[in-house]
Amino acid sequence: MPVALITGISGQDGSYLAESLLDSGFEVHGTVRRSSLEIPDAKLSRISGILDKLTLHPCSLDSLTGLFEIVRLVRPDYLYHLGAQSFVSYGFEDEYATLDTNLGSTHALLSAVLKFVPECRFYFAASSEMFGHSETTPQNESTPFNPRSVYGISKLAGFHLSKAFRENEGIFSCSGILYNHESPRRGKEYVTRKIITQAVAIHRGLSKEIRLGNIDARRDWGHAMDYVDAMRRINEASDPDDFIVASGQTHTVREFCEKTFARLDLNFEDYLTVDPRFYRASEKTPLCGDPTKAKRELGWSISRDLDSIIEEMVQKELENSFDPTG
Ligand code: GDP
Repeated sequence: MPVALITGISGQDGSYLAESLLDSGFEVHGTVRRSSLEIPDAKLSRISGILDKLTLHPCSLDSLTGLFEIVRLVRPDYLYHLGAQSFVSYGFEDEYATLDTNLGSTHALLSAVLKFVPECRFYFAASSEMFGHSETTPQNESTPFNPRSVYGISKLAGFHLSKAFRENEGIFSCSGILYNHESPRRGKEYVTRKIITQAVAIHRGLSKEIRLGNIDARRDWGHAMDYVDAMRRINEASDPDDFIVASGQTHTVREFCEKTFARLDLNFEDYLTVDPRFYRASEKTPLCGDPTKAKRELGWSISRDLDSIIEEMVQKELENSFDPTG
């Protein structure tokens, strides 16, 4: 039975990936913070249905020796490094923690792979944030990177580290440069999930407004399950390489709102308050990915468009009981 280790297993992508690997007969291990194990209902809700099939290892991404030790113990055949300090801030408020954690954890895991399991396939979750203020759109694998957030900078450093271990040390190390991907499991701080939860609260008569920032902002949105499928194809390919994973289309936050509210027979403009607190300091070129290489070499393409993503997110939110703490 092949063994997989996932960092960030309790997140949106980690939970879908764990389900997919279990379905394919993998033995699945994951790292979680010790504090998450103490309050599993709150912190492990996305993997609650598969907890008894997983082996979880308490380890913070800050603990480099802990990560090293877990790789030594688990001896994975496939390692998916999805965990990261992921708050995308364009200020530099918490830059030490973001850079130290994200770069340090990637370095520790790659070093541990090289030392203990050099045949292990290593997948790095890179990000469209690495393109930052890109001069060109859509971006492909040859587009120069120009990150502007500390998160983007930390991901770019991890991406290059992963590439260097591949080219210099010969390990199977690959990256998926993922654009925004959504689902009912998306965190509530992201704009799509925020719109869905607020729209359903309004539909239920529990709220009267939605406060948003720049509704003309554009994003290239896909479904997290499709992107997890891409991760597996990248890490199970015959050769290690890096790929853009994107829908190739952008939509505005306004369109997302219109469609969501219309699905609930509401007009979003009757409820919208534009709130400058939610504006981002620097947003220039809309990021849009060109997934041609993933299509050509991995046979991958999205199977769910924006309408079906919204439909699923609304349906799931309607099934949830109202949580007044939001
Ligand atoms: P990310 O910034 O790409 O990681 O994803 P988000 O879902 O947080 O943001 C997507 C876009 O929505 C950005 O361009 C934001 O400027 C825009 N946006 C507009 N209003 C809001 C809001 O109230 N919250 C968030 N998170 N984003 C907003």
